[in-house]
Amino acid sequence: MRIAMIGTGYVGLVSGACFSDFGHQVVCVDKDADKIAALENGIMPIYEPGLDALVENNAKGGRLSFTTDLAAGVAGADAVFIAVGTPSRRGDGHADLSYVHAAAEEIARALTGPAVIVTKSTVPVGTGDEVERIVREAAPTAEVSVASNPEFLREGAAIGDFKHPDRIIAGVEDDRAKDVLRAIYRPLNLNKAPLLFTSRRTAEIIKYAANAFLATKITFINEIADLCEAVGADVQDVSRGIGLDNRIGPKFLHAGPGYGGSCFPKDTLALLKTAEDEQTPLRVVEAVVKVNDARKRAMGRKVAKAMGGDVRGKTVAVLGLTFKPNTDDMRDAPSLSIIQALQDEGAIIRAYDPEGVDQARPLLKDVQFCPDPYDAADGANALVIVTEWDEFRALDLQRMAGMLADPLLVDLRNIYSVEEARAAGLAYVGIGRGQAG
Ligand code: NAD
Repeated sequence: MRIAMIGTGYVGLVSGACFSDFGHQVVCVDKDADKIAALENGIMPIYEPGLDALVENNAKGGRLSFTTDLAAGVAGADAVFIAVGTPSRRGDGHADLSYVHAAAEEIARALTGPAVIVTKSTVPVGTGDEVERIVREAAPTAEVSVASNPEFLREGAAIGDFKHPDRIIAGVEDDRAKDVLRAIYRPLNLNKAPLLFTSRRTAEIIKYAANAFLATKITFINEIADLCEAVGADVQDVSRGIGLDNRIGPKFLHAGPGYGGSCFPKDTLALLKTAEDEQTPLRVVEAVVKVNDARKRAMGRKVAKAMGGDVRGKTVAVLGLTFKPNTDDMRDAPSLSIIQALQDEGAIIRAYDPEGVDQARPLLKDVQFCPDPYDAADGANALVIVTEWDEFRALDLQRMAGMLADPLLVDLRNIYSVEEARAAGLAYVGIGRGQAG
């Protein structure tokens, strides 16, 4: 299959590289000339484990190329994927579809033969209908089908997720779209990935329902963690205790500082807007959004409380800035709200992150970025783990205790036990850990 991927970001680049690895012929298109120039020189515009080797192999093999010229990329393609951003629209929280609509129109004008246009971006229900309208208006005689194929990969594990998905959702309205998507995903049959065909509108809803459900699971355990703190119970044992129930499952039951990232916050909000427009309120999701928003700043207050309440002039060492490990993505990261809350109380922030500093720098004012965790801790009044990067899992806690001005560890990801922190001479505050928390 000949595939054009419009938008070469976290989703488009990974999807395009994986499709080419399956043996398809892929052209990745992006408006951002710097991104394309970097990719042509083998430099990845994002940090994603394994991506550089995957791109290099397939580019060398002649199956993967990059261009800013959408018309050239689309010419002769069997399928054109739209993988552009759909951020929250400023002001009202609806998904901003301007990039999707613009891409649809450009694609329509560039089509040279029969093709399937596939929306991979996360888009509200009905967007496929609008894409189809735009395409038919711009290219009335084109033989074209419009399909929805939402993406479920997770940043930091994106290649594995793409190649071994739990399922592939294909929302189609005709046989052409069905046949092309089946051919594109045929290599994944070997991996036993179920390919579920639905209507286009159903596929669009599936993506939002999945993200809203996951956000709910996280928020649920976060509130249970608060209760555990109040009553002297341990949320990690509660998670294990409920997660062993097959109907619940163990994943997404790690209490923490609240969800962030480029998807859950904007997608839950966009889903609520759709529900509002349709006058079918989603009250559970409404509560999730409110609780999670409040939680992030509350984490700043939790740190301050652990430090005795008054943090003015005190230094906080923050480990981990990205919204999760193994990515450089800073979009809606909890660290942003936590740091802001602490700075509002007069704290001085020293921070370390393995990959996120370039993206964090423009978003964080007056933060001192440090070359390693120990440097960040040097002379600080508290050490706060915000993101659970692997390299924070085996810190030399005794050395940390020696470097800190006040030996306090606030572990917002529960990666250490109370006992090991105390054995190293650190006071310990975790999430939802009874008397210790
Ligand atoms: P991104 O911002 O990293 O990438 C989008 C890219 O599209 C940018 O490089 C931009 O320059 C390019 N672009 C915009 N308009 C264009 C046009 N007309 N022509 C060519 N290029 C254009 O975004 P992302 O994180 O990859 O997300 C893309 C979509 O996938 C979003 O809808 C998102 O919700 C969804 N999604 C993201 C993830 C994730 O983990 N990031 C997971 C699943 C789904």
